[in-house]
Amino acid sequence: AQELLRLGGVTVRFHAGGRPALDAVDLEVAAHEIVCVLGPSGSGKSTLLRVVAGLQQADAGQVLLEGRDQSGVPTHRRGVGLMFQDHQLFPQRDVAGNVAFGLRMRRSPRGDQERTVAELLDLVGLPGAQRRAVASLSGGEQQRVALARALAPRPRLLMLDEPLGQLDRGLRERLVVELRRLFHELGTTVLAVTHDQGEAFALADRVVVMQDGRIAQTGTPLEVWQRPATEFVARFLGFDNVVEATVQGEAAATPWGKVPVPAAT
Ligand code: ADP
Repeated sequence: AQELLRLGGVTVRFHAGGRPALDAVDLEVAAHEIVCVLGPSGSGKSTLLRVVAGLQQADAGQVLLEGRDQSGVPTHRRGVGLMFQDHQLFPQRDVAGNVAFGLRMRRSPRGDQERTVAELLDLVGLPGAQRRAVASLSGGEQQRVALARALAPRPRLLMLDEPLGQLDRGLRERLVVELRRLFHELGTTVLAVTHDQGEAFALADRVVVMQDGRIAQTGTPLEVWQRPATEFVARFLGFDNVVEATVQGEAAATPWGKVPVPAAT
């Protein structure tokens, strides 16, 4: 598959001499791939997104988008879409006003804009919601408006930071399935950060598990679940009992020689 994003040796240090927030991170994302970055709080997930978005300068290493070095390229020139947990819709504008804010066609004819907004609202499952006030929408509906706004400029890379963080569990599970279908339909390349393992596993083609500013493991959800590469990954996934064992046969063995046993709860 064609490579869309490549990080090479990306290092970010907030405190001189301290542990870096990102420690020589290498990562590739193929076009149309959905990658979810997982890891405990403080492991560097948000910093990773911010570096790719150009909101945070790297102290070392490179960010390449479609093969081009992005150093010095401002956020609005990178062709990336961002959607954060506190999505900050404009409460004084209606739904259409919020979605149109994301359009790079403010100088194009009004009819074109309106058609595009209508299409985006259809896509995110809010058909005909143009004139509704943002304050009258539920949390899930507001999240959809934020998503339509992020998709509006047709970003080559869509970055989501805890996109469904504010929603209750049931709604999150439904939305995640819809989002996966939508992204695959549109061919959108996605780099998402979440601390919620279930969400990441449901959304992602590939997960990246971070530990202290480094990538502890990357693989498909099934690969990571079946064969955690380290004890850290196993424990992070919720395998509470990690037992030392010799196991015959490939299926049960892990690279670190112990067998993770799911927590009883
Ligand atoms: P995560 O998103 O996985 O919770 P972050 O990327 O937010 O992790 O943070 C990684 C590390 O960098 C943490 O130790 C955090 O305290 C530190 N950090 C993040 N942003 C800043 C900042 N603006 N100034 C100083 N330290 C920061």
